[in-house]
Amino acid sequence: NSNQTPFATEITPSACIALSTHGGRAKCLQRLVRLDLPVPRTVALSFDAVHAIAEGRMPDLTEVLKEFPEDALLCVRPSSEDPDWGGPGAILNIGINETTYTDLCTKLGPEAAAALYLRFVQSYAVHVARLDPDVFDDVEDGGPDALAEILQAYEAETDEKFPQDRSEQLGAVLRSMARAWEGTSARLLRQAKGAPADAGLGLVVQEMVPGLGPGVCGSGVLQLVSSTTGEPQISGRYLSQSQGRDALGRGVSAMYLERDARGEALEDLAPEAFESLKVHARLMRARLREEMQVEFVLQDGAVHILDGVRVARTARAAVRIAVGLAQDGIIPPEEAVMRVDAHALNELLHRQIDPDAKRDVIGTGIAASPGAATGKLVFTAAEAQASAARNERCILVRRETSPEDVRGMHAAVAVLTEKGGMTSHAAVIGRGLGLPCIVGASSLKFDSRRKRLKAEDGRLFRAGDVITIDGSSGQVLAGEAKTVEAAQDETFQTLMGWADAARDIGIRANADTQMDAQTARNFDAQGIGLCRTEHMFFDPGRLTVMREMIFAETPSGREAVLARLLPMQRDDFRELFRIMEGLPVCIRLFDPPLHEFLPTGQSGQRELSEALGIPVSEVTRRVEELGEYNPMLGLRGVRLGVTVPEIYDMQARAIFEATVEASKGGALVVPEIMVPLVSAKREVELVKTRIDAVAAAVRLETGCDFTYRFGVMVETPRAALRAEEIAPHTAFLSFGTNDLTQMTYGLSRDDAGRFMSAYVQKGVFGEDPFHVLDVDGVGELLQLGVQRGRRANADVTLSICGEHGGNPESIAFCRKAGFDYVSCSPFRVPVARLAAAQLAI
Ligand code: PEP
Ligand code: MG
Repeated sequence: NSNQTPFATEITPSACIALSTHGGRAKCLQRLVRLDLPVPRTVALSFDAVHAIAEGRMPDLTEVLKEFPEDALLCVRPSSEDPDWGGPGAILNIGINETTYTDLCTKLGPEAAAALYLRFVQSYAVHVARLDPDVFDDVEDGGPDALAEILQAYEAETDEKFPQDRSEQLGAVLRSMARAWEGTSARLLRQAKGAPADAGLGLVVQEMVPGLGPGVCGSGVLQLVSSTTGEPQISGRYLSQSQGRDALGRGVSAMYLERDARGEALEDLAPEAFESLKVHARLMRARLREEMQVEFVLQDGAVHILDGVRVARTARAAVRIAVGLAQDGIIPPEEAVMRVDAHALNELLHRQIDPDAKRDVIGTGIAASPGAATGKLVFTAAEAQASAARNERCILVRRETSPEDVRGMHAAVAVLTEKGGMTSHAAVIGRGLGLPCIVGASSLKFDSRRKRLKAEDGRLFRAGDVITIDGSSGQVLAGEAKTVEAAQDETFQTLMGWADAARDIGIRANADTQMDAQTARNFDAQGIGLCRTEHMFFDPGRLTVMREMIFAETPSGREAVLARLLPMQRDDFRELFRIMEGLPVCIRLFDPPLHEFLPTGQSGQRELSEALGIPVSEVTRRVEELGEYNPMLGLRGVRLGVTVPEIYDMQARAIFEATVEASKGGALVVPEIMVPLVSAKREVELVKTRIDAVAAAVRLETGCDFTYRFGVMVETPRAALRAEEIAPHTAFLSFGTNDLTQMTYGLSRDDAGRFMSAYVQKGVFGEDPFHVLDVDGVGELLQLGVQRGRRANADVTLSICGEHGGNPESIAFCRKAGFDYVSCSPFRVPVARLAAAQLAI
């Protein structure tokens, strides 16, 4: 209740100071006071008081000033609810005037006294009187002469004597800081960081410890851990004869704290002060339950603590710090899990651009697969392979990718495409391979014919030129950028173990290959939630067989190709079962959108003509014949299974034969078979009847019994709406939110990248719906599907296997909607595990 908060409160252990009325700095200072740390006397002004000051209602400042000795200098610092929201800079040495200056000359010496005065006049002139900083350009550095000059300059500019009254000075400083907070640009800036429109600012008025004068005087910061790694390491800086955060200033030659090879250290200069600072820092860590950076001043050797701020940290350090606090019994493990930002975990799993590295950005696109990589530009998959053969790192640049490019993607260290969105071919494969990838980079001009890439600023990059891809930010950089390694150390594993203990929704991985499956195991996925079997044919040798099957015109021709495919698939599945060691493996029957599998360009068609032993013209004719106007809505998924049932028969047989083989040597396998793109109950009945028949045949032939789980992908709106009549036939329903999003919006997954950023910028979509699940629209369909499916079959397992499965916001939705598990790209499994745990805690 605002009427009851006094406008100024001295910070004592029992004072009424709250984050929501006085801000974080005031609250933290009170904690330090309660710990009996040597904190200078401080008064906190409430949000309401500061707001009133901004509106011109200046309270009686004797209320504030009476708390401080008459000759004390003061400083004012901002105290908002969240330090990330910014705020006006601190103003030091308020209260200095001719009289105090004379006293200080005696106490601290003329140099120090002049420096204190000078600093105040300068900041007052710029931040309060709003003079142009250039006015003081000619003023010499430091000393009484400089002071005289600067006071003169002030008077010349303002036609007024520099204010001498402490109360007047303080009032003016408070007013300027209060108004700065309410200014439009400051408001927009903090709102962009998530601050509410009416976020308040508190101010703290603190007695100055000058940090200048005789004896050991100076200021600095100390923390117990490295901000980069989070490892225990005393770090910080100290600067003799300085105030505030001077020691951290650019170009300042401050000293390190701990004695090492780097030269003079505070430990040598003031060993006792150094020791007590460490004791204070450890106490703060234990009692504030956080790694804190201590802001301190030494005055004639005595330690004063001005403030404590949360240690800045990289994602890697955040994990190390949280785990360290929990291992020391300072916070419970669940809280450690809560303290790490799940989104930021991606940084740990991939090589990243060094946060301090220079970035020469030449263009941007959609950040489709995280991580950073540097390499030479190549414009075809063949060049990528040639490059890899020479042991040269290369970046594959394509307008968009198709299965023919997958071999090139394997050979490249990163991928950049002009077209596409979060679920386009390049994005899905890139994430699967853990390969940094940027798609939809339409700000760059792609000239694949002349093998050139034109930057936003007109610079041209040719094949062989070096660029860096930052798949975490979507930035394309010229040249090489410094990177830091991925980190999945013991600390990371410890945190993930705690997360798993808390989690109440399953996490599986989308894995198509043995390599994917191995990655999924490494990241402790609880099974495979989606194996896209058509992706098993991206390998160049096999792609042709897949195409032969698509091209077969007669049943006997197709049968011959299927007979060649059968052993390949059987081996594939057996290996997946072996790697997953009894964990569930959900295999989706073929769903090849034809445009992704027809040969494009002359070389592809020539290759196929050789393989099929028919003229190129014949291939071209067939490609044209099979070509669809709208392949994503064409002959794919279960439609292929219904019209050419032999294909699914072959796959089912391969799965069952592999089941028998794998179960002999290892853990019992109960395969899951999933049918894509269903929209009608009858499709399910037709396919299921045939698969049951294949199962019976394999049981008979092998003399081995086995069971399997049959399920349906819900990825058309109709399947969601008709879930009640579909569910009784199935053991599970897996929601494919990529296609479901595409079809709900009528928005092409492969083309939306072109205008997605404009749509998000103009606020049509809050986020790319292929990236973050559209809870309102697609989400409603999911909910309908869940309710109707469960109503008809209470035991049906429900999951989601679209790319949304790895997104923390989408996981929150799935958990609430009652899903049993989510399945996402293997590299996103850790993020999903942590996010799911945070939802359950
Ligand atoms: C989906 O549509 O969500 C899905 C998982 O299948 P795909 O991405 O292979 O179309
Ligand atoms: Mg799909």
